[in-house]
Amino acid sequence: MKYQTVKGNKVQCDICPRMCNLSDGQSGFCYVRKNDGGNIVLETYGYNTGLAIDPVEKKPLYHFLPSSRVLSFGTLGCNMGCLFCQNWHTTKQKFPINECEKATPEQIVSTALAYECESVAFTYNDPICFFEYATDTARLCREAGLKTIAVTSGFINKEPAKEFFNLMDGANIDLKGFSETFYSKNCLAHLEPVLDSIKYAVNETGCIVELTTMLIEGENDQYVEQECEWILKNLGDTIPLHFSAFFPKFKFSDRNSTKFETLKKAYDTAKSMGLKYVYTGNIPDIETSTTYCKTCGKPLIVRDGYSIRDNNLSDGKCKYCGTACDGLF
Ligand code: SF4
Ligand code: SF4
Repeated sequence: MKYQTVKGNKVQCDICPRMCNLSDGQSGFCYVRKNDGGNIVLETYGYNTGLAIDPVEKKPLYHFLPSSRVLSFGTLGCNMGCLFCQNWHTTKQKFPINECEKATPEQIVSTALAYECESVAFTYNDPICFFEYATDTARLCREAGLKTIAVTSGFINKEPAKEFFNLMDGANIDLKGFSETFYSKNCLAHLEPVLDSIKYAVNETGCIVELTTMLIEGENDQYVEQECEWILKNLGDTIPLHFSAFFPKFKFSDRNSTKFETLKKAYDTAKSMGLKYVYTGNIPDIETSTTYCKTCGKPLIVRDGYSIRDNNLSDGKCKYCGTACDGLF
């Protein structure tokens, strides 16, 4: 494996900032990467938890080929340790690999083409921990004329991040809470590497990035203003930002679901601070799921759940004032 360092009789995995230093036969935090005779191998290469066809809005990506079909898959394990993980049954417990579906990168590409998908998405768990499976598939997608999408936490080291994000046409990166305490306590990870990945992907690659913050009341909803300040300063005002609702899961099964008022408050804060494309998610609401023109303010794409009710873009431009909407349309 390219991203590894031999340290005495151990091998360090250099994919993510955990830098797991592994003895022969030992698995890393993500439990799917293992030192196998002095080489880090991905045990889930070619295995997935099932292929599904989703609308791109489900990722969520709202500024990337609206209403297009995306062949989506994930595998097992995760390099993050979120106590609120919504997919914990496949990411946070040993799940027999022989219960997974098998598909080579070539088979994934041919399935996407056969089902007339425009993109392939690496999602459900974090593609950072299935780096080789995702990047090999992404390369073949590009050759076949398919777009590539990553749904990721962005908790990745700088060198692999270069390879990873340059192979992605679109990405939804989680910014889980604008607080190191939140990251260390509730995600068993750190904020700074995530901010670095976001800055790199947005400012130094051609990848179209949207951000998602899932709000958990009392845990991260108090940091919305600082998050928006950082976004405006480092990424500009046109990066789409989604505030989505949390539902009790895994170690946070005793918490309350996020109320719509909490999402709306964050939405209003982000809008009032100058962000142009802000959305709420996981609780249906047409007004806050609509894309508005950044110049004239008229509704451009009106969404109802994952479907589009009205599209007022012509060649990617507002049909009222002619301003181009940011993204890929
Ligand atoms: S990808 Fe997995 S094995 Fe590698 S450093 Fe991260 S958690 Fe450890
Ligand atoms: S990054 Fe996503 S999949 Fe991984 S532990 Fe966190 S919520 Fe679960």
